[in-house]
Amino acid sequence: MSVQRVAVVTGANRGIGLEISRQLALQGMQVLLTSRDDARGRVAAQALAAQGLNVTCRQLDVTDVASVAAFRQHLERSHARVDVLVNNAGILIERQATTLSDLDTEVLRATLETNTIAVLRVTRAVLPLMRKAGYGRIVNLSSGMGQLADMQSGTPAYRISKTALNAVTRILAAELSAELSGADIKVNAMCPGWVRTDMGGPNAGRSVEQGADTAVWLATLPKEGPSGGFFRDREPIPW
Ligand code: NAP
Repeated sequence: MSVQRVAVVTGANRGIGLEISRQLALQGMQVLLTSRDDARGRVAAQALAAQGLNVTCRQLDVTDVASVAAFRQHLERSHARVDVLVNNAGILIERQATTLSDLDTEVLRATLETNTIAVLRVTRAVLPLMRKAGYGRIVNLSSGMGQLADMQSGTPAYRISKTALNAVTRILAAELSAELSGADIKVNAMCPGWVRTDMGGPNAGRSVEQGADTAVWLATLPKEGPSGGFFRDREPIPW
């Protein structure tokens, strides 16, 4: 008998994270939709549950050490397993025209805190459960704006945070593949493209359904699938 997989999605009360939650639940997973604002998370989870999907919500502010610790305790007590972690929560808080010379270091710090360091924090909270089960799929929502192969000016804090997230992805993948346990744990980064959300704005070319697709594909990779890669539209892209 196959067990129902448990998926955790961060920043899932709106945007791409909400759509990833919906698509994972449609695949039969039990989805823990997490949100830093409990009330907004509850509204989002209830809307999906009303469609017959197995989605519940849990408060999780990825930048708050106490919130992540409480979330970890909840997972250990109530779920005992996490098969999928989608690190989706992200911020873009500078203007497009910001230059590196003008960049407020507090903006850089805050952006790195959410987009890079918090990903590491949440991943560390979940990894022990994946190691125990010998299975895990970790998906990091990165961006083409973090690609060194195509690095340009504009929104420098966001770009730096996503480049660093890509490094986190590769280092963790290398560490996991070197572990002797033989656990089937994969970690990949992906770019959803330019998506119509609060972050992407109304002029973006892609729907949330399109933006979520590659993350869901990576979250459901078979054992022989890739780890340590960077993808858009289910295809590898340069770092
Ligand atoms: P969005 O509409 O702005 O939604 C961002 C989500 O992240 C919200 O749910 C927000 O929660 C949450 N969040 C922010 N800080 C958080 C924190 N400290 N703890 C928990 N949740 C937090 O963004 P999106 O467009 O869906 O983007 C999702 C991901 O895709 C991001 O990582 C983004 O960088 C990446 N991405 C997006 C695009 C695009 O075109 N949209 C392109 C490339 C990459 P609140 O509602 O509480 O603020």
